[in-house]
Amino acid sequence: MRYGGNTTCIEIRTDNNELLILDAGTGLFPLSQSLLSEMPVTANILITHSHWDHIQGLPFFIPNFIPGNTLRLHGGFDPVTGKGIEQVMAVQMQYSFFPVREEEMKARLEYITLTPNIPHRIGSATITPCLLNHPVIDFGYRIDCNGKSVFFTGDHEPPYNIYPCDDRGYGEYQTFVDDRNAAIHDAMRNVDVLIADCSYTTAEYPSKRGWGHGTFASSIACAKAANAKILFCTHHEPLRSDAALEQVFQEALIESSSLCNGLDVQLAREGLTYEF
Ligand SMILES: [Zn+2]
Ligand SMILES: [Zn+2]
Repeated sequence: MRYGGNTTCIEIRTDNNELLILDAGTGLFPLSQSLLSEMPVTANILITHSHWDHIQGLPFFIPNFIPGNTLRLHGGFDPVTGKGIEQVMAVQMQYSFFPVREEEMKARLEYITLTPNIPHRIGSATITPCLLNHPVIDFGYRIDCNGKSVFFTGDHEPPYNIYPCDDRGYGEYQTFVDDRNAAIHDAMRNVDVLIADCSYTTAEYPSKRGWGHGTFASSIACAKAANAKILFCTHHEPLRSDAALEQVFQEALIESSSLCNGLDVQLAREGLTYEF
């Protein structure tokens, strides 16, 4: 597989070599193997949201089992369940699902609840969570460090008007939608790197509306509106082959060619490294 089969997990290193990890999908397991050579580690994991494909690597994060390591898990408070980010570890470590109890893990585990739009410092980096649009509480993260910046959407469907245009509620709701999208573009403003949910094509989108995912076209539009320098398209639809992924990507570039002037758009793939 050229683009990989693991679910969401992105490693970020600051200039000071501080370790930040965006989401803890199954890609966390191969990442944790690469960390074995630099123990002890302090891993700062930022969880966008609690869906399986973004958390299921957590029990398999090898540094958790080795004394001297620290795992700091960051994420939002879920007002629906009334639980903080500790929930995403606790549910997976239950007796029926995993043989090791959380109390038996040898690493130091810390849970840090983040609030939308309130910057949080991790070493030399400043992390700012931004509330995005998905069927569960969901943060995008902006990371600023030494004048460089990254924004990761996790899963995100740009807010849209749920009313037909001839409905009485349309106008008022459109103002809400416009404000939400403007706030999201502001949070991404001028980033060097935007990593965004491009699950669907424009043709596929109407049957997936409300599922909480973006399209290549919506992410390119977002990158342009925010004046991002480079866009990495990710969260690839799992049913697509590598060839099909490349084909829909090329078609999306043609479809959005009027917006691609001055914007570098690339397909993310497992193992890809980008230094800036
Ligand atoms: Zn999700
Ligand atoms: Zn997802």
